Amino acid sequence: MNSLKTSNLGYPRIGENREWKKALEQFWSGKIDENQFEQLTDNVLYSNLQKQIDSDIDYIPLNDFSLYDHMLDTATMFGVIPDRFASEEDGNTLSQYFSIARGNSKAVASEMTKWFNTNYHYIIPEFNNQKFQLVENKPLKAFRKAKEKFGINGKPVIVGPYTFIKLSKGYNEKDLPSLLLQLIPLYQQVLKELQNEGVEWVQIDEPILATSITNDELKTIQYIYEQLHEAAPSLNIMLQTYFDSINEYQAIVSLPVQGIGLDFVHGFNKNLENMQSYGFPEDKILGLGIIDGRNIWKADLMKKKDIINHILEKVPTERVWIQPSCSLLHVPITTRNETKLDETFKNALAYAEEKLQELQLLKTSIEYNSTDSKEALEKTSRDLQILNMSPARNNSEVHLAVQNISQKDFSRTESFEQRKSIQQDFWQLPDYPTTTIGSFPQTLEVRKARRQFKNGEWSDKQYTSFIEAEISKWITIQEEIGLDVLVHGEFERNDMVEYFGEKLAGFAFSSNGWVQSYGSRCVKPPIIYGDVAFVEPMTLKESLYAKGLTNKPMKGMLTGPATILNWSFVRDDISREDVCYQIALALKEEIEILEKNDIKMIQVDEPALREGLPLKKEEWQEYLEWGVQSFLLATSSVEATTQIHTHMCYCDFNNFLDVISKLDADIISIETSRSHGELLQSSQLKSYDKGLGLGVYDIHSPRVPSVEEISDVIQKYSTVLPKDLIWINPDCGLKTRKEEETVAALKNMVQATEYFRKSNDQMNLANTITER
Ligand code: GLN
Ligand code: ZN
Repeated sequence: MNSLKTSNLGYPRIGENREWKKALEQFWSGKIDENQFEQLTDNVLYSNLQKQIDSDIDYIPLNDFSLYDHMLDTATMFGVIPDRFASEEDGNTLSQYFSIARGNSKAVASEMTKWFNTNYHYIIPEFNNQKFQLVENKPLKAFRKAKEKFGINGKPVIVGPYTFIKLSKGYNEKDLPSLLLQLIPLYQQVLKELQNEGVEWVQIDEPILATSITNDELKTIQYIYEQLHEAAPSLNIMLQTYFDSINEYQAIVSLPVQGIGLDFVHGFNKNLENMQSYGFPEDKILGLGIIDGRNIWKADLMKKKDIINHILEKVPTERVWIQPSCSLLHVPITTRNETKLDETFKNALAYAEEKLQELQLLKTSIEYNSTDSKEALEKTSRDLQILNMSPARNNSEVHLAVQNISQKDFSRTESFEQRKSIQQDFWQLPDYPTTTIGSFPQTLEVRKARRQFKNGEWSDKQYTSFIEAEISKWITIQEEIGLDVLVHGEFERNDMVEYFGEKLAGFAFSSNGWVQSYGSRCVKPPIIYGDVAFVEPMTLKESLYAKGLTNKPMKGMLTGPATILNWSFVRDDISREDVCYQIALALKEEIEILEKNDIKMIQVDEPALREGLPLKKEEWQEYLEWGVQSFLLATSSVEATTQIHTHMCYCDFNNFLDVISKLDADIISIETSRSHGELLQSSQLKSYDKGLGLGVYDIHSPRVPSVEEISDVIQKYSTVLPKDLIWINPDCGLKTRKEEETVAALKNMVQATEYFRKSNDQMNLANTITER
């Protein structure tokens, strides 16, 4: 019987108990050899496959597992090895592979960056005129391996040529066609070999199609897929898109492939609309991405079933695969081990394993329409409803406060110009004020102390006195160094989002909700499951203690609303915009309390504001509007003398300074090691009209920058920016550095600033004399 099929796009790699992370780290540290490593790798891979087989998934993805990252896999498979690692080969491709990802004693690692709008990081392939070659057909290898072990005919996955090339670097746009011409034959070879092996379906991932694509690009894509189809005409290609709808629906569904995978969660409205207007080709399979692969919530299966039935009116059952909206790489593995969460909440969760079960439930319910399956479906809707009706999601005070937000809440009473002169009088800071971004070294003892407190081994009193001693030590150090604006050092914080999440209402923390961030690094994002509300002061105690130890200005330190939002798993029953406003309102209360307690310099970090940008440029405006307004809502109720700082780092600042300016922060400190030259030349920088602290040294390296180096950097800044707007600071927080490095680097920073102030004075004097 021709029936509805289920498919999966990718499975989390880390293992149910992060076995994979552990294996990798043991191998890197030399505790296990290559054979043992391979054994452990296979264990995780096989268990992943077994779980998908047990869930009766019809099309199981292969080659989705990776030793580090799937983009790096694609690059090395085609011989795209950066020059500086090329000589390392001496037969050991595995060590070369990890060197590209992690660097070695001789060469720095390849850069990594975020995979579209997720928190997964991929290694950016570097083209440097290498000769592309097919080193190894990895999808084929993965196919054979699964077949041998389980006797299954899986569906190999590969990153598509266009996405691969667009996410790589080291070439000019004009060279793209010639690069593609070299690359396409290699892809053809891969597909031919798959075809000869008897592979039925290959999944080619082109998430780039969910961004804004130009007409020219579309022609290129058309050409690519014609070539691929020609090379392996009897191999079926599932062209997979995800993370959003596709703009060029008609053109893309007409490409010469046998299946089109569409995201019916994140691109639901538009994809559906297009399908209704233009239909779906009769010769193709529809990959219907119906279960959210990016979030941890159960799906409302009654609603999902309606959607599927609706689509089945347009596309016959035998041509539909139901599947997650994207690879399950972005969610944790199973809720089975979440033993500490309360029932209402736990019942509303679905991680990877549970999502696959949801697909299975949908399939049986649609096929057999049995009472059993109907009940199972209804249960998911009920579970979600119970959470929706719980007090956690019905804080009427918060709902009302969000409703009552009005335009006037988004602006300070005085303009920046007015505030600037008021603040100059009030704070009496020297030219080029020096400061840091917030955190100081998180030593082993600091981390141990936090752990002991959390485990209950340490009393409140013990812990507080430890933190206070640490703060006090660093206040002395900062005074000795001669910094102008001090910070308390953030020793009490494990993570800049989790710390606030733990103190606000509406957040929960899973015990096993790990997802891969990059390589062996996993993160456990907080879960915003209820209405976010202020409960009690979150930062007052430490800031006040620090302030009491010095006469210098003390900067309070908070994480901004968009960053808290973007680094969490977020409830999806209300809009992200509303959740962001809820967070902003809670932060506003904190800021007002700090101000009342005479902490009148307050920094609100927004390193993740830019990350939240939607994939399609035409949607940026809307996101930025509420993202910026949330910041304004949190920070605008303070007096003119109160100085609001913000901080951003490791993002592309070009074309973002006008957004930053809208935050109306009195000062922003930004990292510049990544964007150095470009930023200084940008016309936006020249017209930036608020306080600006451009990072004067990179904090990622233990190397201590010299006074001369830093002076040079300051000199450069001062040619671009007016003197009364410049602040001097490192690129980012110093928590990953050692004490000695930190002190030495900051001393040099202060010395360079002083030297610079003096030479400036002399220049001024000289100017006055000549003017006379
Ligand atoms: N205040 C934070 C710190 O110094 C900022 C961290 C960040 O920008 N990611 O650690
Ligand atoms: Zn930073």
